[in-house]
Amino acid sequence: MGPQNLPEHVQSIRDRIAAAAAAAGRSVESITLLAASKDQSAESVRAAAAAGVRDFGESYLQEGLDKMASLGDLPLVWHFIGRLQANKTRPVAAAFDWVHGIDRLRIAERLSQQRSAHSPPLNLCLQVNLAGEPTKGGLSMSELPALAQAVAKLPRVRLRGLMCLPPDETEPTRQRYWFAALRRQLESLNAAGGCLDTLSMGMSGDFEAAVLEGATIVRIGTALFGPRPQAK
Ligand SMILES: *Cc1c(COP(=O)(O)O)cnc(C)c1O
Repeated sequence: MGPQNLPEHVQSIRDRIAAAAAAAGRSVESITLLAASKDQSAESVRAAAAAGVRDFGESYLQEGLDKMASLGDLPLVWHFIGRLQANKTRPVAAAFDWVHGIDRLRIAERLSQQRSAHSPPLNLCLQVNLAGEPTKGGLSMSELPALAQAVAKLPRVRLRGLMCLPPDETEPTRQRYWFAALRRQLESLNAAGGCLDTLSMGMSGDFEAAVLEGATIVRIGTALFGPRPQAK
């Protein structure tokens, strides 16, 4: 499957998001389709943009920067969705619009210090490790309130919400269980005075369940682009 199929894939995903949104009584405008474009070429990103996708998620810094450089003529919104090491925050703060997956204050502090005063604040989501899986990043639910409070005070970043990579589940009711847990965390932070508006959750295999539980950003890779080319 090459970029020539992208318009159909984009439409089919938009239709499925719309159906899930309707079932949940939500407006489709409240849900952003983020194309997870790691391992995809700049040409594939350009084709997705031509099909109306505006938000793209990159997991590897250099690969993302290279794509931005060759797509600088397009008005795209770039999200860093990979694991971010402290020594790589500066280029991320300079080039990206969003960073999902924040789970340490130190990273958020560096991004805030390094974000230019001439750019809008960098949008951040905190990653929650809902099931305590050791192979995945993210903080525990008990650590969340303190980190959210600290990040919300940083000047050059804007805490937007929460992100998760839940355990692999095939049953829709199980998928919804984890997404509902993340939504409840957002609700309780907001009840405690937060003003968070973003739930970054749902991927190719579970985005409808995520929309039913309140996702505002779904991150879709393979269902859009097809299987990822062999990673380098
Ligand atoms: C790759 C990736 C996705 C997309 O995964 P698919 O299953 O291919 O849709 C979403 N989120 C993150 C953080 C990713 O790294």
